[in-house]
Amino acid sequence: AAQTGHAQQSPLSDNAGIPVTLSDHPAITADRAHVWHHLTQHRRFETTDPLVFVEGQGLRLRDAPGREFLDATSGGVWTVNLGYGRASIAQAIHDQLVRLPYFAGTAGTVPAALYAARLVSKMPGLSRVYYSNSGSEANEKVFKMVRQIAHRHRGGRKSRILYRARDYHGTTIAALSAGGQPQRAAQFGPLTPGFVEVPHCLEYRRQWPEGDYGARAARAIEEVILREGPDTIGLLCLEPITAGGGVIVPPEGYWPLVQDICRRHDILLHIDEVVCGLGRTGAWFGYQHYGVKPDFVTLAKGVASGYAAVACTVTTEAVFDLFKDDPNDPLGQFRDISTFGGCTAGPAAALEVLRIIEDEGLVENAARMGARLLDNLRALQARHTAIGEVRGKGLLVGIELVSDRGLRTPAPEAAVQQVVAEALARGVILGATTRAIAGFNNTLCLAPALIATADDIDRIADVIDRSLAHVFGTAD
Ligand code: PLP
Repeated sequence: AAQTGHAQQSPLSDNAGIPVTLSDHPAITADRAHVWHHLTQHRRFETTDPLVFVEGQGLRLRDAPGREFLDATSGGVWTVNLGYGRASIAQAIHDQLVRLPYFAGTAGTVPAALYAARLVSKMPGLSRVYYSNSGSEANEKVFKMVRQIAHRHRGGRKSRILYRARDYHGTTIAALSAGGQPQRAAQFGPLTPGFVEVPHCLEYRRQWPEGDYGARAARAIEEVILREGPDTIGLLCLEPITAGGGVIVPPEGYWPLVQDICRRHDILLHIDEVVCGLGRTGAWFGYQHYGVKPDFVTLAKGVASGYAAVACTVTTEAVFDLFKDDPNDPLGQFRDISTFGGCTAGPAAALEVLRIIEDEGLVENAARMGARLLDNLRALQARHTAIGEVRGKGLLVGIELVSDRGLRTPAPEAAVQQVVAEALARGVILGATTRAIAGFNNTLCLAPALIATADDIDRIADVIDRSLAHVFGTAD
C-alpha cells in the first residue's frame, strides 16, 4: 500500500479511538519503515507522520507533503548558518571534488591549508588547525592532546578535565563524560573517568543568594579546583555561551575571572565554539565578546554551514610545540588520525562560507537581528507571564518558560513541547532544550540563520506570541 498513491488507514487508533490517516508519500513511508531518527521516541510515528524535508531556500524549508516552514533553528541544531540553497557553496564543493576529493590528514591539501590560514587570521594568538568531522570529535582531540601533554610533560599529573554543568560537548562516551546535562549520559555508563563538573553560571537560577553573580560563579570553579587538587587538573572546557543547556549568557565579570583562575592554576582553557563560532553571536567567535585568550578552540557546525561535515581543533603554537620536543621518540607526536578529516569538501565549503560571511556582513547582521529578536521577545514578556526570562547574544536566543513567574517554577516539558508543536502548525520551526530533568527542559531555543531579515525576525516573534497564547491562554 505504501507506494500506491492512496492514503493509508493506520491499523492503530489515537486515544479517542478515531482512525488516523498516515501519509503514503513514498519518502514518508520509507522513513517510517527504515530510518531511526536522532533524539526521537518513535512510538509517535505510529499515529503521526515524521517530518521529511525536500528542499530549502534561505530560511525557508518545504517538506514532502508540500508544506512550507520558516526555520528558526538553522537546521534543527544551529548549523545551517548561511541558510539553504547557497549555490556558490555547492559549486565550491563540486569544483574541489573533481580536482581532488581526499587525501588523509597525514598530508596537506590546498583547501585545508588555505582555510587554516584564513581561520586563524580571525583568532589572534591561535595558529594551528587540526581537522576532523564533528564537534564531538574536535573536542575529543583536545582531551587527547591534554592527556598526552600530561603524560609527556607533567609526570602524568594534570590529566583531569573540568567541564561545567549544563554545557554540552558531544555525543561520544568521552564527550558525554564532559557533559553537564545528566539526562544525555543517563544509561550510557560507565563513562570515562577523569572528568569533574563545576557549577553553571545561570543567574536566573541562582545557586548562591548573595553578591556579584559573575564573581561568585567564577569562584565556584576555583573551589572545585582547590578541592580536587590543582596539580591533577589540566584543562577547563567551557562553552562561551551555553547553547543547548538553555542559552546561558555568562554574567558580567565572569570570563576575565575564569581566565585568571586558569592562569594561576596552570590549567589550559578550551572554549567549545561549536555553536557560537563563526558569527552566530554577533562576533566572529563567542569568546571574543569577553576578551578571553583560549589555549584551544573547537569548531564544527557552522564551519561549512551544514553543506559538508568538517570540524576544527584550533590551538596555539605553544601547545603545538609540546609535541615536537623529542623527534626521535616514536610516541612523541600527537598519535591521532581522523579518516574523514582528510576530506576536502569541508575546507572548500568553509572557505566559501567565510567569504560570504565577510562579503554580506553577516556577523554584523547577526548582532543587529539578534538585538531585534531580543527586543521583540522582551516586549512579549509583558503580556505572557509564561515567559520567565529572555536571554541571548546575537542570533542565539533562549526563552525560559515558567508556570509561576514569581517563583520561577519551570514550565512542564509537555507545555514547552506544545508551544513548539503550535509554532510548527503555524509554519515556524522552533527548538527547545532536549528532554531532560526538571529545570532543564523549559527553554525555547532560537537560532535563525545569520542572513535573517527584519521580516523573518518579526514573523518568528509573532508566531511565538500566538503559540504561547494558545498553550498558556494568555492575551492574544
Ligand atoms: N559542542 C557543542 C557546544 C554542541 O552544541 C554540540 C552539538 O550540539 C557538540 C559540541 C557536538 O557536535 P557534533 O554533534 O558535531 O558531534
